[in-house]
Amino acid sequence: MSRRMIFALMAWVLWLPGIRAQAPSPPADIPPALLEDIVIGSRILADFGVLDGFGHVSARHPTNPKHFLMSRSLAPALVTAEDIMEFDEDGNAVDARGRSLFLERFIHAAIYKMRPDVMSVVHTHSPGVIPFSVSKTPLKPLFHNAAFLAAGVPVWDIAKEFGPTDMLVRDNGIGRSLARALGDKAVVLMRGHGDATVGPDVKVAVFRAYYTDVNARLQSQAIGLGSVITYLSTEEGAKADTINLAVIDRIWNLWKLRVQGEMSK
Ligand code: MN
Repeated sequence: MSRRMIFALMAWVLWLPGIRAQAPSPPADIPPALLEDIVIGSRILADFGVLDGFGHVSARHPTNPKHFLMSRSLAPALVTAEDIMEFDEDGNAVDARGRSLFLERFIHAAIYKMRPDVMSVVHTHSPGVIPFSVSKTPLKPLFHNAAFLAAGVPVWDIAKEFGPTDMLVRDNGIGRSLARALGDKAVVLMRGHGDATVGPDVKVAVFRAYYTDVNARLQSQAIGLGSVITYLSTEEGAKADTINLAVIDRIWNLWKLRVQGEMSK
């Protein structure tokens, strides 16, 4: 074997594991339907402008409830099943393989730890909610699709506990503070930042992220009309939410077709 051939072989041997380390693949034994829900949710929220280059959709691990699944650091419109990674209860990647991680994964870790009922978390910077995160006007449901807001929408201000920061949920301590503010609710607004919505599955958490944004935009319009606004009562909210959850597959399947149409282009 010539020196040149030996050199080429050595270069190939050194190159191969590097390529393998970068090759994305989802964690083993996750039902494809769950991976698909995370992909559909990420892409549809990007389509609707609820997520832009930032924000993320996660799901609790189906067989290890202390762990959760979310994409590697990637714009939500680009997420595929291969990009989904597994994280432990403190937000550490189980098998990072050199992939970059979302800085704000601690939002998800802390909420899963504090809320055993939550199976999915969405974090957005949705433009509609920002005004309600920085003013004293509470976000309230004014139409039936946003009925889940009737239980109350807490606003979390990072500065109250942490003083001046870069506004990001960059560790578990900040994540815990946010999860405490969420309490038993479906949505928490984050002052000057966005929101986090939760649900018993990915579809519901995504539905809530979308309709929180739609309701916020409509509420700003209604306030602009300048007269008294009649919001859904707590009782109406509870009744309407039950119906919304019962028919969620109808709207989810529509969103899925839209996303799959775009993915196949
Ligand atoms: Mn954020």
